[in-house]
Amino acid sequence: MHIADIIAAKRDGRRLSRKEIEYFVGEYVRGTIADYQLAALLMAVYLNGMTWDEVYHLTITMRDSGTVLDLGPVGAPTVDKHSTGGVGDKVSLVVAPLVAAAGVPVPMLSGRGLGHTGGTLDKLESIPGFRTDLTPDAFVDQVREAGLAIMGQSRRIAPADGKLYALRDVTGTVGSLPLIASSIMGKKLAVGPDALVFDIKVGCGAVLPTEEAVRRLAGLLNRIGRAAGVKTVAVLTRMDQPLGRAVGNAVEVAEAIDCLNGRGPEDLLEVTLALGERMLLLVGAADDMSGARRKLQEALRSGTGLRCFREMVRRQGGREEVVEDLHLLPQPAWRLEIASARQGYIDSVDALEIGRATVRLGAGRLHLDDRLDHAVGVLVHKKVGDAVSKGEVMAEVLAGDEERGRRAVEVVRRAMVISERPAEAPPLVVDIIEPVEDEPAETVYR
Ligand code: URA
Repeated sequence: MHIADIIAAKRDGRRLSRKEIEYFVGEYVRGTIADYQLAALLMAVYLNGMTWDEVYHLTITMRDSGTVLDLGPVGAPTVDKHSTGGVGDKVSLVVAPLVAAAGVPVPMLSGRGLGHTGGTLDKLESIPGFRTDLTPDAFVDQVREAGLAIMGQSRRIAPADGKLYALRDVTGTVGSLPLIASSIMGKKLAVGPDALVFDIKVGCGAVLPTEEAVRRLAGLLNRIGRAAGVKTVAVLTRMDQPLGRAVGNAVEVAEAIDCLNGRGPEDLLEVTLALGERMLLLVGAADDMSGARRKLQEALRSGTGLRCFREMVRRQGGREEVVEDLHLLPQPAWRLEIASARQGYIDSVDALEIGRATVRLGAGRLHLDDRLDHAVGVLVHKKVGDAVSKGEVMAEVLAGDEERGRRAVEVVRRAMVISERPAEAPPLVVDIIEPVEDEPAETVYR
């Protein structure tokens, strides 16, 4: 078998066999296939798609590229959630401790920033000392004892996804249905929770451009879940403007802590509760939605959710005092305010542009080996529907150097459109998609 033949086969729209998939994934992880060859193959998959069989085999091969965990020692049904990626999407940092505090263990496997979207691991690593590379045993022990652990793919867990994800991030191959689905499910199945809630973003800041594509992704993720014996449900949520006010890494951790303190922005809390409810329901920890919501609100009100977050930070080597003192998080060298040029109402805040500006500030990667600046980002003080007066600060750019900061200011200013009349933000939860029994006949997912 040779990688050049596999690339050519996919380029010509041929279906790859299980053996070919196992070959390219295995050899890429071993380092015998070059990045440029795999990039070519990823682009061929992006353009020509994959059949159900190919997607399923790719997912299982990704899962088996490292250790597959045994969560048996946790001794209770577990649940995880996964977002397809958004701008300002720090929901994992809030919902995971709330669900754990409500009594359901959360073994969370997260990703890094991808394209213009942020990643939970990058955010957590802005907490001084925080480690996301737990050993499998340490991860399972922490979930058993503390109810919550968050780690990333590593050389041990779903290493194939770690490498493919990083390569896709810099080769224009993020927005591919089969690649997204196998990436998400390959790593999630390596951990093996009993249930999984997907937060699938819809809108200009999402990784997939159309609602139709997003719905197909929801169906595909549910289908993989069913085939692998995991309970799933997909929640479609809006991603036209950033979620919450903070976009970046340290600033998003700070906002998540505020939220766990009961001071979070409404939209962040709403998406958090919608996903948390589904997480509790899937594992039978609540009888209905209102019962689930009550449990989450209690975890918020009593501070047990925040304590759970703090305990996770402590156990994973981070400075737990950040929970009381947000100044312990990295601080930017520059803060540049953006004032409104006129009076009116915020009509739109383009999440994609804000996400891109944040990446260019250094919060995300443009090249495989870029190092992040955890302190930089954007604070969106005015959201869709808010009134602004002339000269009022609508947003702030947090930058490591002035030049980059000034460039981001221009992008953010253009991304915030002001109108005469108040606009209304559409509902955040767009739809709930449950798994179906009658799977679509053989289709190509692209
Ligand atoms: N989240 C993932 O884990 N992988 C993707 O490809 C996209 C979102």
